[in-house]
Amino acid sequence: MYRTAKTGQKLMIEILPDKCDFCGCCVGVCPEDAIELKEADIRIIDELCTNCSKCIWACPIEVIVFNKEGVLKEVI
Ligand code: SF4
Ligand code: SF4
Repeated sequence: MYRTAKTGQKLMIEILPDKCDFCGCCVGVCPEDAIELKEADIRIIDELCTNCSKCIWACPIEVIVFNKEGVLKEVI
């Protein structure tokens, strides 16, 4: 189980990289700069994420989800 260093909470956010189209919308809304996007690679930096969920609502194709530590969400 991962915990965010900032809040000590369980990390609850997950990106499904094989479904991502790397548009960058999530990167722009993250207040912690916790999403790293490099060409065709994307990841959440666990130590910076605060589980605010802004990236979930920003993703136009809904490929950022709560993981098992949060609330499971169906993915299209
Ligand atoms: S949950 Fe919030 S802090 Fe974490 S990656 Fe998404 S926007 Fe950034
Ligand atoms: S907003 Fe969604 S599709 Fe766009 S880069 Fe982020 S995870 Fe990928």
